[in-house]
Amino acid sequence: MDGMSVVGDLFGAGKMFLPQVVKSARVMKRAVAYLLPFMEQEKISAGLEEEQARGRVLMATVKGDVHDIGKNIVGVVLGCNNFEVIDLGVMVSCDKILATAAERGVDIIGLSGLITPSLDEMVHVAREMERRGLKLPLLIGGATTSAKHTAVKIAPQYSGPTVHVLDASRAVGVVEKAISPDQRGQLDIDNRKLQAQLVASYEKRQQGTLVSYAEARERRFQTDWATVDIPKPSRLGAQTLREIPLAEIAAYIDWSPFFQTWELKGKYPAILKDATYGEAASKLFEDAQAMLTQIVREKWLTANAVYGFWPAASDGDDIILYTPLPSREGPGEGRTELARLHTLRQQWQRQGQDHFRALADYIAPVGSGRKDYVGAFAVTAGLGCTERADNFAKTHDDYNSIMIKALADRLAEALAEKLHAQARAEWGFGTTENLSNTDLIEERYRGIRPAPGYPAQPDHTEKRTIFELLDAEKQAGITLTESFAMLPAASVSGLYFAHPEARYFAVDRITRDQVEDYAKRKGMPLLEIERWLSPNLGYEP
Ligand code: SAH
Repeated sequence: MDGMSVVGDLFGAGKMFLPQVVKSARVMKRAVAYLLPFMEQEKISAGLEEEQARGRVLMATVKGDVHDIGKNIVGVVLGCNNFEVIDLGVMVSCDKILATAAERGVDIIGLSGLITPSLDEMVHVAREMERRGLKLPLLIGGATTSAKHTAVKIAPQYSGPTVHVLDASRAVGVVEKAISPDQRGQLDIDNRKLQAQLVASYEKRQQGTLVSYAEARERRFQTDWATVDIPKPSRLGAQTLREIPLAEIAAYIDWSPFFQTWELKGKYPAILKDATYGEAASKLFEDAQAMLTQIVREKWLTANAVYGFWPAASDGDDIILYTPLPSREGPGEGRTELARLHTLRQQWQRQGQDHFRALADYIAPVGSGRKDYVGAFAVTAGLGCTERADNFAKTHDDYNSIMIKALADRLAEALAEKLHAQARAEWGFGTTENLSNTDLIEERYRGIRPAPGYPAQPDHTEKRTIFELLDAEKQAGITLTESFAMLPAASVSGLYFAHPEARYFAVDRITRDQVEDYAKRKGMPLLEIERWLSPNLGYEP
């Protein structure tokens, strides 16, 4: 345990890196687990943890969210620094979090989440803490969380300290201060000062001009539909691929985000030779390769995919999908509407911006005289992952528990890349590509695969349409939570667009007139859609 505090200090000083810390924690946890029965015999263990612990931290991934790599890493790092961590896992309701906090008398609550709907759930937890008269520090972390969102949306709901934590390397410092009677006050003062600045800069940005929805539509991204190349997929409708060989998928892995997960900053393969991170990165990569070989050979994970193409036409900012029956009639007209995708349009004015894009701009409009197509996909590489990860955790092996989740995520993204290449080939224009994995990672191909919940379509509820269209639950074994997180967590879904000028963009902030129109098109109450789009609202609802 004394050794661990040295590890903790070295990590804090940037002289040791996360993978080494997590492995050291494994040594300590296993040693303690081995010793505990002997200590119990000699009755010297009673109250050991409580006596030693510097404080008790409750951590949870909020309701509707399933992502926990970051939370688990923070938990290990806090454990190394002698904090007692009560980890409630994923999809934890506000009630359970606050009831446990009261029961166990915790000193701090830490909330984690990855998808944007979780931001709203965190606001809810903060509001409940206020209502129940809590005073505990509230820590906020996870990929879509930010210091700004915490300052603007979460902190104002709760009078106790509400602190955003950027990553595991910052967690210890914040928790230490928040718990220490001497430092707590200063942390709170500094934090509130920082948050006031962030609120001011947010308000300034909110004043940035948004054009009206009518003008944005008027100035949509234009295509000469008479001449643009519109390829036809070789097959229409959905297809399922089950138990895709993992070795084929592994070849498509983009390793750079893997190092990011472990908080080693740099691009693969250069990071392996980096002056600072090289050694830790190389060791980590070796361990990852060894586990990947095992995953492939012993089929630890199952990968499934379902994807397809449908005749489509844009109707304003919607995209109509038709049943893929042979039809002699014109495009769109005379065919049966199968589903309708709803897209959101950019409205913010930036220098050098001529157009205000929506994904619908990439599909030929109804009445254009052209037949167009859109694709959809859902893939997973995470079936079997939770069981493996839990088994590792049970044997005090957080390192491998985190490792398999990180690798499952990589395989899911790799499968999305591989399937997209196959889709482009079936669409015709991909057959002549001949691209290396680096080319693929750098997206040197025609077309895009935007995912709902990402900047070009920030509305997660569009996943429901995609999942129904693909029957993704039955075909690929992927389900959606109430916040539209995909389960298994190592899953990816989205749309395919083949337009030669299709590119990713950010919808960013939008005005009330667009949100009202969008709500009407989706047949959803305004208040409900405002909740889903809350990070994008350019006004106070
Ligand atoms: N090689 C990366 C690929 C994932 S990130 C990896 O292995 O992690 C890139 C993906 O994110 C894209 O393929 C797309 O599905 C999604 N994406 C990125 N930017 C987007 C945007 N602006 N709008 C919608 N989807 C986006």
